[in-house]
Amino acid sequence: MNEFLELGLSQPVVDAIETLGYESPTPIQSQAIPQLLKNDTDFIGLAQTGTGKTAAFGLPLVEMVDASLLETQALILAPTRELCLQLSRELGQFAQFQKGLRILPVYGGADIGKQIRELKRGVQIVAATPGRLRDLMRRRAVDISKLQYVVLDEADEMLNMGFKEEIDEILQATPESKLTWLFSATMPEEVRRISNQYMVKPFELSVGQPNTGNDDIDHQYVTVRPKDRYEALRRFLDFDSEMYGLVFCRTRRDAGELAEQLSRDGYRSDALHGDLSQAQRDRVMAGFRSRHLRVLVATDVAARGIDVDNITHVFHHNIPEDLNFYTHRSGRTGRAGRKGISLILAHPKDLTLIRRLEKRLKTQFSPVNIPSGKEIFEKRLMGFFERLKKAEGHDAIKPMLPQLMQELEGLSREELIHRLASMTMSRSMKTHVNGQELNAKSKASRSNTKGVELFINIGNLDVDGKAGFLAMICGQSRIPGSAVGKIDMNSKHTFFHVEEDSAEMVINSFNGSQYQGRELRVNTSKGNTSQNKWKKKPFKKGKKKYQGARG
Ligand code: AMP
Repeated sequence: MNEFLELGLSQPVVDAIETLGYESPTPIQSQAIPQLLKNDTDFIGLAQTGTGKTAAFGLPLVEMVDASLLETQALILAPTRELCLQLSRELGQFAQFQKGLRILPVYGGADIGKQIRELKRGVQIVAATPGRLRDLMRRRAVDISKLQYVVLDEADEMLNMGFKEEIDEILQATPESKLTWLFSATMPEEVRRISNQYMVKPFELSVGQPNTGNDDIDHQYVTVRPKDRYEALRRFLDFDSEMYGLVFCRTRRDAGELAEQLSRDGYRSDALHGDLSQAQRDRVMAGFRSRHLRVLVATDVAARGIDVDNITHVFHHNIPEDLNFYTHRSGRTGRAGRKGISLILAHPKDLTLIRRLEKRLKTQFSPVNIPSGKEIFEKRLMGFFERLKKAEGHDAIKPMLPQLMQELEGLSREELIHRLASMTMSRSMKTHVNGQELNAKSKASRSNTKGVELFINIGNLDVDGKAGFLAMICGQSRIPGSAVGKIDMNSKHTFFHVEEDSAEMVINSFNGSQYQGRELRVNTSKGNTSQNKWKKKPFKKGKKKYQGARG
């Protein structure tokens, strides 16, 4: 039997799901749907976007709403216009075989008169931004007295955006008898307050741990000087021709300028931020959705509710000011079981914040290198030859082959390949081959006298040169290579500089390990030490070379 039928959904809804190609319910769907269909309690779902939460509440909602009654029975509040549109679109699809079921998105920045007329025609489900709904209530254009369900979607975001008053006013005006379903990626105090104040013994469900990252997202960071940030971003875009990405900036101005600069440099990109008119936003989103744009540069607020499948990369041009935003940003990739990369272009000083994020998300961020110009060039070159191998010869050229062969007589295979590659790759050669090194050098490495000098009793006899040593140190202590400065290796021990911020991490990370049966020792070279007896931890691989998208 179809797994969605087993959850208690009816045939028309299951048929609709089939047209969408969902094969089986996601974890939140299989847990929430039967519970919501019982129709007897309030509900809290701790889930991020990308988990299938929209269907988790949308399917029961279209199932339970009575399409033959022309009154508003369900209200969904969502933080942004995009999300309202998205919700209406999805719910409309779920309800495609239920005659007469109408779902209407209402949001600010659009013609309110038109929305009022639509509401007058009668709709069973309204998806609204809080501000606009309050307006409509005040104008008595929407009747919420018959509501049976109120859904608060992305509740934390709505509160982050300052919709507290509107939400209070709306919830106070809804009938006592309704059920409230609240969805949120995080559970800050404000959201807890809403649930305490307006919900009765809610059934709570959390998919994954609250605040944790999604396993399909590979969290990475590079350390780069602010002045090199743009160039670093370009390197990533150049490295991966399949990249379809979102870049987050903190301010509208940064977003606008960055998108403009990218466009000037030939990337198909545009900006999404609060200064745009509704029509402009629509145009930008349509361009991104259709993949005419490859890179969308957005501010946190403008990007809320963006639901675009297959985004391969989320870049954080700056680490977000509010670390809660990180979850929302990165959740735009790694959706519906696909892999994605979330990469912070970090200032060397941001490392402490990254550690804090790791704790909060209970996940690890991998330090990666900014691809060097040479790496990009090599990847492109290999890509060209891959395509060459697969290319089919064109018929129109066939008759000319003997003549062409004659032209090239005397050229060896090697020469031929060399020249072909040189001609095809001449542009990339110019742009990339001599690109400067962008991975930020730390204070420790720029000036060997700054930072902290450490001693470790591992030397040339144990690891393969400085590169091996660096990989070992970074892998074990999870500091970026850029935090390590001068390395002075002897056969059995090494002195090396690390940034002051990282010294403690290096010392602590080796604590409790041993290497090839030998107890290791880390001291600050001044002698005040930490004599660590290292036993447990295995050495991990070092700083990752940038590999592009996984899987
Ligand atoms: P959401 O978390 O609701 O934003 O959903 C994330 C994405 O997953 C959307 O593109 C949905 O269309 C898709 N999706 C939701 N449920 C399923 C499912 N059971 N199977 C496959 N894809 C799904």
